[in-house]
Formats: sequence, C-alpha cells, structure tokens
Amino acid sequence: MFRRKIPPSFCRIKNMSFVVNISHRRYLDLFNHVYATLANVAKLQRNMQPCVLILHEKTTQDGLVRKTLAIAMSLVCLALLTSARLPVQAPVPLPKPAEASEAPASGDVPKPEQKPESGSEKKPETRSDVPAEPQPAAPDTATPTPEDKPAAPAEKQGPKLPSQQTLEEQHLTIAPESEADHSECVKELQSLGVVFQDISRIDDGNGCGIDKPIKVSEVLPGIKLKPDAVFRCPVALALARWMKETVIPAARVAAADQGAITTVNQASSYICRLRNSAETGKVSEHARGNAVDIASFSFEKGEDIAVKPRREDSTLIGAFQRTVSAAGCLYFTTVLDPESDAAHETHFHLDVLERKGGYRYCH
Ligand SMILES: [Zn+2]
Repeated sequence: MFRRKIPPSFCRIKNMSFVVNISHRRYLDLFNHVYATLANVAKLQRNMQPCVLILHEKTTQDGLVRKTLAIAMSLVCLALLTSARLPVQAPVPLPKPAEASEAPASGDVPKPEQKPESGSEKKPETRSDVPAEPQPAAPDTATPTPEDKPAAPAEKQGPKLPSQQTLEEQHLTIAPESEADHSECVKELQSLGVVFQDISRIDDGNGCGIDKPIKVSEVLPGIKLKPDAVFRCPVALALARWMKETVIPAARVAAADQGAITTVNQASSYICRLRNSAETGKVSEHARGNAVDIASFSFEKGEDIAVKPRREDSTLIGAFQRTVSAAGCLYFTTVLDPESDAAHETHFHLDVLERKGGYRYCH
C-alpha cells in the first residue's frame, strides 16, 4: 500500500501514542487547525502542551489511510473537545471602583442627630414665651433632644439646665437698645397718636429690666390703656397697629351697637419674673419688656368684651375674639389666647420676641 517508506511521526495525546504517517500536504492545514483547537482547549483547562504534533511534509499515504487517519484524528479531537470544561475556580470579579467611591460618600450624608436640634429649638422657644405655662415640661419630654439626654449626668456633674436654674443662676443681662431704633420707633408712635412717655432705664437685677422703656396711657387717640403699661417701644407700636388695623374694624362689625372702643384693659406688662411665675425656668418676656396681656375691651356703651374661651361661641362676639386673635400674629411674634391653654383663658398674651428666621408662634 505504501509507495515508499517514511519515518513515523509521533503524536502524544494524554498518555496515548499514535503513529501518524501523513503523505499529503492538504491535511497539514487540517491538522494545524486541529492543533490550534486543542491548544485553545488546553488554555481553558489551564493545561499547557497537551498535544505535540510532529508533522513531516514529505510523508505520503494512500487515500484510504489518509481518510482513516483524518477520521481518527477528528474523533480524538472531538473527544477532547467534549471533555473541555470551565476552570474549577472561576475568576472573581473585582469590586467596581464606583462602589468603593460611593461607600465613603454615604458617610457624608447629614447626620440624623441634627434634626432633633432644629425641632428642639422650636418648641422650647415657643414655650419660653408663655408667661404662665401650666405644662412647661411637656415640650421637652415630647421631643427628646440631644440636650435632654445629658441632662441626667449634668445634674450630678455639670451646671444645671436653664429649666432648672433660678433667675439668679441664669446670669442674664438686659438687652441694649440702639438709640437709632428707639428714635425711629418713637416717631412712629407719635404719628399714630399713641400717648406715652419715655421713662428711666429699668434694672431690677438678674437681667430683669428695659434699656429704653416707655409708659403708655393711650394705645391710640381716645383709647386708654388701663392701667398704664410699661414696656419697650416695639410693643406699643405693635399694639397700636393691631388695634387700628384689625381690632377696631372688627369691633365695628361685631359690636356696632356698642359704639367705639374706649379702653383696652391690660392684665400685665413689664414685671420681673420667670415663666409661670415659677422659681426656676426661662425668664418671661414680660421681664424684658417685650410683652403685654390684654384682658378685655371697653366700649362707649354696653358690656365689655372679655377675653375668655370662645371656641364654641357662635355669636358675633365669638367671631370677633377669634378674628383679632388670629390677626394679632401679623403684628406680634407670639399670640396666646384662651384656646392655647388654661393659663390664658382670661387674656391674650402678646409679645415681640425676635426669633431666628422670623419664626412666630400663634395659637
Ligand atoms: Zn403674658
């Protein structure tokens, strides 16, 4: 069968030896292709040099042998291909750079601790304005703040909280008033016809007092303020505007048959005390000359309109009280009325405390 003898070549495939005599160059390309395929399979298996083919271009073979060898090699390669498998240990993907960079970014998120602070500023401040708070501790317990938690050890180790301090322990000072602001305020009072007089600086110690106090006897021309009241000029100005722009017009509608308002009856103006007249706690705005309490209005005829609980009062007088209470927030920064709490069932508490951001508390 063989035209001439040729040296055999050896192909070692997985400990199996075959004698391969290839005579035609056409199969060289086929075997090279098969070798390339085997090499790729070897790479997948991480097994280098699984097969070494030594091919001689001068070898010859008749057609039958060539076909047989080609089929045999194809079967061997097919067997190797079917045995190909993925590496035992698949490569583990590295974490994305983006994920690593986002992780620390989350640390920049605003801490939730700051939220209670803003809330705690709100309620305690508003409650601090109440001259006679029946429940001063309620806001503190309702909204726990970072300041509340260290309160317990503070009692033992540190200074007392303001709510636990007496007026003397708070070391307050009287807020100075600029001459320019006071002069401007006084001019506006004069233009409105408010009857008042400047009085000497009040200093009752421990922060109680008024730098530039005035004593008002008429809130507007012909409308007395009884008894005469002492407070800072901005209180008198807010009171005069409130009366002129809302109380008097509302009274003309609600109590038209009683004539004009003749007197505003006040229950409290400047007085040195803490809120609730308590022994400890925040100082009242009355002690700074920032507040006035209005108990009733007198008319030319008829009965006084007293400030009292009127939530269920469906009369015009009830509507009058609710109207002037709501309108008070346009002029004062704090308005407490009989619907606020039991301590204000007999009067409006009106003050001009300046808060951060122009915040107002009006019930
Ligand atoms: Zn008051």
